[in-house]
Amino acid sequence: MRAVVFENYGEFPSLTEVPTPTPGPGEVLLRVAGAGACHSDISVYRVFREGQPGAQRPPFVLGHENAGWVEALGPGVSDRIRVGAAYLVYGPIGCGHCRRCAEGSDTYCENAATMPYLAVGLGRDGGMAEYMTVPAHHLIPLDDADPVAAAPLADAGLTPYHTIRQTLPHLNSGGRYALVIGLGGLGRIGVQILRALSGATVIATDVKEDALRRAEADGAVTVPAGERQVEEIRALTGGRGVDAAFDFVGATPTIAAAAACMAPGGRFNVVGIAGGTHEFSFFTNPYESYMTNTYWGSVKDLWEVVDMYKAGQIRPEIERFSMGDALEAYRRLEAGEISGRAVVTP
Ligand code: NAD
Ligand code: ZN
Repeated sequence: MRAVVFENYGEFPSLTEVPTPTPGPGEVLLRVAGAGACHSDISVYRVFREGQPGAQRPPFVLGHENAGWVEALGPGVSDRIRVGAAYLVYGPIGCGHCRRCAEGSDTYCENAATMPYLAVGLGRDGGMAEYMTVPAHHLIPLDDADPVAAAPLADAGLTPYHTIRQTLPHLNSGGRYALVIGLGGLGRIGVQILRALSGATVIATDVKEDALRRAEADGAVTVPAGERQVEEIRALTGGRGVDAAFDFVGATPTIAAAAACMAPGGRFNVVGIAGGTHEFSFFTNPYESYMTNTYWGSVKDLWEVVDMYKAGQIRPEIERFSMGDALEAYRRLEAGEISGRAVVTP
């Protein structure tokens, strides 16, 4: 079968022939309907090096946002999993035996350091292929919902949902403001989730004009990135600042901009992995404000994301690429030419 393979640190992936996998005990074989191209993949193949936090040793098939139809069940899989039915894949894979895995947070597995991989498409073969294998308990039924548009939910939906859910106490009274920086795959869905779950005014910013227009269509008030953005954002809040900020870029300038917009007591969530840094001291931050980072989400969160998708509260905007054009999807993602999410449909 054809697959997009990350072969060597620092190198652009290849489209190549690999053997079709066989599901092991407790796993299913999934015929991939869609695999989202996440900006993190660019860090995987361009930035990370052996031994660096987050690095996963090549070679493996990329694709950690996947949905598809169950083709075959491996040994011991319950017939509650229906062959032919559509499922979304929860990507992170922990040891399955520690307390964090027990609560469905494979992302924070206590044995992650001794696991052979982090997730499908991150150390273990992912869904940028015609077929993939998945542990059966990582499947969430999509029923009649479109599996191709659902694929981005597995990360571009789950990651914003996870951090927004934890931030809701900061946004659940009147006159609250949330700031979203970076309106790509994650940020666009982040705006939709904030609009659906909180009464806050959502202020959104990006360097791209078309990204601002699309966020406005989803109900955000927008401010273009640039020198005056902090002033303009603070003015929109009547000078008080925002109660929550979500930085889906994570570079030093975006972290600085978000930090300068925070109201006292607010929660600032760094989600983007650009690796920017920030000074935190008694004098340089609003009082009783929180700054946190966050990685992906739990399987329970993903069930709730699927509920929001089925209810029409999350509407991923996707651009489809055939398997033959999968590398073109990554080229365009690197060039900043994708609006919403590129999804490869094998
Ligand atoms: P994307 O390429 O789809 O979107 C990024 C958006 O940010 C684009 O619209 C771009 O124009 C905008 N942008 C870039 N620089 C900007 C700036 N200075 N100011 C404002 N906007 C700017 O990326 P994505 O797939 O949505 O991922 C976003 C980030 O989140 C990446 O760093 C990715 O690696 C990371 N990520 C983190 C997690 C996690 O668990 N923490 C999960 C998935 C992705
Ligand atoms: Zn674990």
